[in-house]
Amino acid sequence: MIEQLKENNRAWAARKIAADADFFKRLVGQQAPEYLWIGCADSRVPANEIVDLDPGELFVHRNVANLAPPQDANYLSVLQFAVDVLKVKHVIVVGHYGCGGIAAAVDGKRRGLVDHWLHPIREVYAENREALLAIPDWTARMNRLCELNVMRQVRNVASDVFVQDAWGRGQSLSVHGWVYSLANGLVTDLDVTICGAD
Ligand code: ZN
Repeated sequence: MIEQLKENNRAWAARKIAADADFFKRLVGQQAPEYLWIGCADSRVPANEIVDLDPGELFVHRNVANLAPPQDANYLSVLQFAVDVLKVKHVIVVGHYGCGGIAAAVDGKRRGLVDHWLHPIREVYAENREALLAIPDWTARMNRLCELNVMRQVRNVASDVFVQDAWGRGQSLSVHGWVYSLANGLVTDLDVTICGAD
């Protein structure tokens, strides 16, 4: 099976060069993406593919349940590089309906380390408990929690000092919240875009 992946890779690289002889030469020179994607690690949510972008066009950070925790050095390093060095114009937090991480955060089962990682989702749940419990269907309730989680992560990104300082310098930067549907391949914009400091 691994051999198949290597064959796929060679065929893919050949197709890219056939369509655009200088494709890889240009990418070696520099990357200049305009977007930072913060998405779930779920294999069904492949960042570049969903928005039909080539290598070099999307800076990507993925983790379980698309979190932007203000103490996570991995996420913060990606965010600072994207904002300060690449000067991306848009940060897009992308959740997805049917997210296993969201359900795992609140289903009461113990899984180990990931329970700690998912703690911020339990906070979102607690803050919206009444509204969520008013949704009788479990799947619908989890889907709403997916949306609320994206909204929270958008606020995390927007309130981060790297982003606040970028806005202070007059840098153009918007933070968006989307949810992707595994069922039809479409993203929904949650209309929670933040374009500058309060
Ligand atoms: Zn997920």
